[in-house]
Amino acid sequence: MADLTIQEIVPGVNAALGGVCNRGLISQGGSVLVIDSGIAVTEAAPLRAAAQERRKDGALYLFNTHPHGDHVYGNQVFTDNPIIAHEGVRNNLITHGEETLAAWRQNQDMAALISDVVITPPTLTFRDHLTLFVGDIEVQLRYLARAHSLSDSVAWLPQSRTLFTGDLLFNTFVPALPRGGSVENWIQALEKLIALEAEHVIPGHGPIQTAEALTDLRRWFLFLRTQVGEALASDWDRETTIANIVPQLQKFDPRGNEERLPNVIGQAFDELSKA
Ligand SMILES: [Zn+2]
Repeated sequence: MADLTIQEIVPGVNAALGGVCNRGLISQGGSVLVIDSGIAVTEAAPLRAAAQERRKDGALYLFNTHPHGDHVYGNQVFTDNPIIAHEGVRNNLITHGEETLAAWRQNQDMAALISDVVITPPTLTFRDHLTLFVGDIEVQLRYLARAHSLSDSVAWLPQSRTLFTGDLLFNTFVPALPRGGSVENWIQALEKLIALEAEHVIPGHGPIQTAEALTDLRRWFLFLRTQVGEALASDWDRETTIANIVPQLQKFDPRGNEERLPNVIGQAFDELSKA
């Protein structure tokens, strides 16, 4: 794991890079907001220390974009502070947190890293949106959809037009679409994010982007949807659809993590065949 790197976007607004996922650190006037805690205590602790350094007599908040382990398994380092998220994140961690953690621990490469993780659900939830002020910095936490996960929210900072997308943006990679996610919702979520006209876009993973990456991913999903729609119209079965669309998608917009394609196409097939 690389060391924590704090990269300033504009004064007070930072991306916290170097972990398994990208995180955020917003601070002004002695108050601090951390966006996503990271995958492990060892990842969250240096971020907490960086937050503590910037905190004077103001508040310290943590916000979780979605309930996936690589974004929330560091939450226990922040338990003495409000942990904010959409109510679906809390519900998901309470209902499935232990079972998912046990499954992640089956992964040999991951087991040691997450051995001391204690599932720590958010303590302050919202349904649609919540605006908080970090000093004078306005931060809008907005629930978007069940798209990449069962509950995806973003942080939008209108003054600097900075957007922390969580995993609603996968630039240059095939997006991960776990069971329960939705292609249709994801396309709609991307349309809402594109409409913000963001200048700085911090995805859940990978380098900092511009809004163009959102448009690219939307185009990719639209292509996927069209291809699967045509497959259904031709009465192809699930397997044939996957086999035929994998090369078409990679030709249209070649992306890394190609091994995810069969799953994503299969999920799109299941979703659209029900529609
Ligand atoms: Zn995720």
